[in-house]
Amino acid sequence: MEKINVLGVKVHRVTMSDAVNRVISFLENKQKSIVYTPNSEIIMECQTNEKLSLAMKEADLVIPDGIGIVLASKIIKKPLSERVTGIDLMEKILNYANEKGKSIFILGGRPGVAQKCGENILKRYPNIKLKGTHHGYFKGQHIGMENHSEEVQVLELINYLKPDILFVAFGAPKQELWIQRYKDELDAKLFMGVGGSVDVYAG
Ligand code: UDP
Repeated sequence: MEKINVLGVKVHRVTMSDAVNRVISFLENKQKSIVYTPNSEIIMECQTNEKLSLAMKEADLVIPDGIGIVLASKIIKKPLSERVTGIDLMEKILNYANEKGKSIFILGGRPGVAQKCGENILKRYPNIKLKGTHHGYFKGQHIGMENHSEEVQVLELINYLKPDILFVAFGAPKQELWIQRYKDELDAKLFMGVGGSVDVYAG
């Protein structure tokens, strides 16, 4: 799949239907996959934030959520197909998850938001298995797995529930850095940074 280099960040040149097909193939394959939807601020932040830049490099699908990126790609004469927003892609993923009875875990947002988001998703997509939800403001510091901070408990909970899809909504770049840090030890198939979309679904 073709990638366009936007200020050093490789963004996939995909239409929405390409992006959806790719996510479906991730979900049906056994290996873990990561999806990010950076906007231009995140591309700018990658210029100085090495960890974030590495997270983008190691992701399996990086789509341009932001008209700025699409415009930049036109200026460098490698036009991206279209703007594919994170929330639209999340909606398509939920639709597919509903068709196939896939399971999800929603992590992030203020207390109560992930749960409300999950309830609203289930109203529209009753066939989805909502394995769990948790807010994104952890108490305590994570210093190794022996420390039972709230964050460690969340990691353990996710690994116990083993969702097909883990939506992480801490806002960018926090969610990308968090996924990058924990992806190897977390048992989920698809990881996606969804930012404020949980607030939108929570209504
Ligand atoms: N958030 C969180 N933990 C944090 C910081 C933010 O769960 O430590 C949540 C916040 O409550 C909101 C989302 O992350 O639900 C950030 O949304 P925003 O619209 O700022 O992110 P964007 O979509 O712009 O990346």
